[in-house]
Amino acid sequence: MADRVPYVAGNWKMNGDRASAAKLAREVAQGLAGLAEGSVEVGVFPPFVHLQTVAAALSGAAGGTRVRLGGQDVYTQASGAFTGEVSAAMLRDVGCVSVLIGHSERRHVIGESDELIAAKLKAALAGGLSAVLCVGETLEERRAGRTDEVNERQVRSALAGVPAESLERVTIAYEPVWAIGTGVTASPADAQDAHAKIRAVVRAVAGAERARAMRIQYGGSVKADNARELFAQPDIDGGLIGGASLKAGEFLEIVRAGAARSA
Ligand code: PEP
Repeated sequence: MADRVPYVAGNWKMNGDRASAAKLAREVAQGLAGLAEGSVEVGVFPPFVHLQTVAAALSGAAGGTRVRLGGQDVYTQASGAFTGEVSAAMLRDVGCVSVLIGHSERRHVIGESDELIAAKLKAALAGGLSAVLCVGETLEERRAGRTDEVNERQVRSALAGVPAESLERVTIAYEPVWAIGTGVTASPADAQDAHAKIRAVVRAVAGAERARAMRIQYGGSVKADNARELFAQPDIDGGLIGGASLKAGEFLEIVRAGAARSA
């Protein structure tokens, strides 16, 4: 666990306008002063239309270079007649280094399949981006005792065929769907259990070394007051934060909880 740098990222979802996005980005960047370099990795994932604004705000703020900028989605193709979609090259062009893939709202609200998500992951990596692959079971699947099976299917289907040399650019976010935006968090023990099993799947797919190095974030109603306990678990390497990432003060508290883990 000690050699994995915790990674705390904010998924801003469909929130904010240009002014609030720039302000939030600046406050996050400035708030990183005083945190030891290398103690925690920090990312923000604003809506597409705010990416340029946020990139500019980060480049003008102390600490801005420490914030990894990412998109919330990417399309499978490099360019062409795909109305409404955005390519990996376009994301890189506006300053992104990363992208979310298969977030639960893409899977369950928009209806993305495992196949589409797998293709998006490959396109993101081929396009030079890092990726946060989101997986997790619904409440119904959990109640049916299918948590591990669902996580395994989602991880295996996405990672199948990913070139070995690209895997170091993949982070997995375990986000039980029933915990996202609900205020209900998985207990640290339950989350640790799911993370350890996901790591075992990565081991089976990609080998022991890659599994040891792969960061697995937890997501689902992480707040300043529960982050430390979650991040203290041996297989939880930081978090993907939704609601609480929209308030700089609270998000920075969560970032500090991530940094504390590697102290
Ligand atoms: C998310 O959207 O990835 C998320 C975890 O949301 P929240 O923190 O609001 O539950």
